Amino acid sequence: MIRNMNVELSIVSPVYNEAEGLAEFVRRIHAVVTPLGVGWELVLVNDGSRDVSLQVATELAAAYLNVRIVSFSRNFGHEAASTAGLRYARGKAVVLIDSDLQDPPEVIPQMVAKWREGFQIVYGVRSKRHEETGLKRATSWLFYRLMRRLAKIDLPRDTGDFRLMDRRVVDAFNSLPERSRFVRGLICWTGFRAVGVEFVRAPRFAGKTKYNYAKLVRLAIDSLTGFTTAPLKLATWLGMLIGFAALAWIVVVLFQFFFWKTPNGEPYRPAGFTFIAIAVLLLGGAQIFLIGLVGEYLARTYEQVQGRPLYIVDSLVGFADTKAVGGANGGLLPGSE
Ligand code: UDP
Ligand code: MG
Repeated sequence: MIRNMNVELSIVSPVYNEAEGLAEFVRRIHAVVTPLGVGWELVLVNDGSRDVSLQVATELAAAYLNVRIVSFSRNFGHEAASTAGLRYARGKAVVLIDSDLQDPPEVIPQMVAKWREGFQIVYGVRSKRHEETGLKRATSWLFYRLMRRLAKIDLPRDTGDFRLMDRRVVDAFNSLPERSRFVRGLICWTGFRAVGVEFVRAPRFAGKTKYNYAKLVRLAIDSLTGFTTAPLKLATWLGMLIGFAALAWIVVVLFQFFFWKTPNGEPYRPAGFTFIAIAVLLLGGAQIFLIGLVGEYLARTYEQVQGRPLYIVDSLVGFADTKAVGGANGGLLPGSE
């Protein structure tokens, strides 16, 4: 087999300090993908491992001709590694899979079958969670709910990054210019026909997780702020609410001033602090509202800077002579260069 053969299927896998399990991972990928009888490649992205992962990977690339390596100068993180892998992958379909054998390679043929049926995204759905605490489950529940509610993006529950993507999806993903990349969310954002395949997530083959709670919180904040500007606009509403409350209070006080009488028949005089309280509320409301206004402009600027295409064209009918063109940025889509 030569390296530049026609690649139908690419397997992309980020590697960070996985020396112990890497050989087993490649062996299992090989055992599962070879029987499919298609040209394939395995792109290992070494994310600046501090152990001997790179040596192990290099030996594996010598032993198996379809293994290729992209090696980072330092640790840039899982999302960056996945992004790089998707860029270097050449297949008509690309599978993203962890290299710690938590995502069983045996699911790949099922994913390929779904892809051949015409689905463009086939994501792995964990049917059982091994070794996960109640806290991790609760936080993940909250996260998916927030994403759905605030970010208006329907991330499928219980899915990780383990998924197959059609070339069109990968090209659309590669065309997104933004820097902070929540891979799962962005792929979901591209749309396309998606379907899930159930699998049981295995415990790690070797070593331990490289994610801790701090990293998970970082990822959650990144993904929320990447997909919604709602927090920036919060102040607009809060300011308006407080301002209106102050105005309503003024009306009440005026009414009391002119129409109320004390029990002994004298005109009612509101306590002095009332005016101070109203002034504070009115000014506070106006300030918060103006901050919100700044937030609205910031949100627009932010969305503009993210530079996502306004839309993604999947197919055209009756435009044989025209190439698909992306949205605001124009020409972001495959075949448009
Ligand atoms: N990984 C990476 N860079 C990092 C952390 C992790 O490339 O900074 C890789 C890691 O080798 C594994 C995958 O990303 O293949 C998932 O990481 P991990 O298993 O630690 O996360 P978990 O499965 O616990 O969510
Ligand atoms: Mg893992």
